[in-house]
Amino acid sequence: MDHPITLITGANKGLGYETARRLLAAGHTVLLGARDRVRGEAAAGELGAAFVPIDVTDEAGVGAAADHVRERHGRLDVLINNAGIVGPRGPLADTTAAEALATFDTNVLGVVRVTHAFLPLLRESEHPRIVNVSSGTGTISRMEEIGWNQEVAPAIYSTSKAALSMLTLHYAHALPGILVNAVDPGYTATALNDFQGTQTIAQGTDLIVELATLPPGGPTATVRRHWTTPA
Ligand code: NAP
Repeated sequence: MDHPITLITGANKGLGYETARRLLAAGHTVLLGARDRVRGEAAAGELGAAFVPIDVTDEAGVGAAADHVRERHGRLDVLINNAGIVGPRGPLADTTAAEALATFDTNVLGVVRVTHAFLPLLRESEHPRIVNVSSGTGTISRMEEIGWNQEVAPAIYSTSKAALSMLTLHYAHALPGILVNAVDPGYTATALNDFQGTQTIAQGTDLIVELATLPPGGPTATVRRHWTTPA
């Protein structure tokens, strides 16, 4: 496949933006998804990508984005579900269901929404791949091991990422013709963590790019990690 068509959600900055830059350099036709038109068009213009307006919490908007891609390209080869938010950072005891719902709506239901809308287009691809950007903070065995006397990620965020990693495995088994994998990019300096992350943006995107460019017959149903310190 000469020019894979790749959609990245939340790609106007951070890991999504750098992934777009690297995949463009690798010859992909990158559809740079962003919820804000001004930020999205600016980022796409800088990189030479095509802007696709997509707010992963907006059911109708996600459907319109899929229609847009179908009209222009007729298929999708790689879907990178990257958009994510931290959500409530305060004490869990003070966190309301409404606050938690907003985080799950983006980090988990957003992936269901986008995947469902774009599946018909992925099925038009000869070699479809889905990459879900999860987090090691959602790895339950790791949280059992590290102890709780050090700083841990916000509870609702890490719980939403645990759900996303599990969801990825279920999608992989439900979609045998598609390589579906999740990645923990590692603790990377982006706006998500006020640029406190210890990895560079290049390090943080290494695995995302690797999973987005898997050859036919490559692994599926994996949750890969790239963290070196708690993320
Ligand atoms: P970031 O710089 O804050 O980027 C997040 C992106 O998601 C932004 O483009 C943001 O758009 C977008 N977004 C948020 N809500 C959205 C929505 N409803 N619809 C569409 N786009 C939306 O953070 P990042 O670190 O690059 O995060 C990318 C992914 O990596 C996230 O899923 C995050 O959980 C994951 N991750 C990051 C780290 C890390 O250390 N950085 C570690 C593990 C996992 P706006 O600009 O409009 O807000």
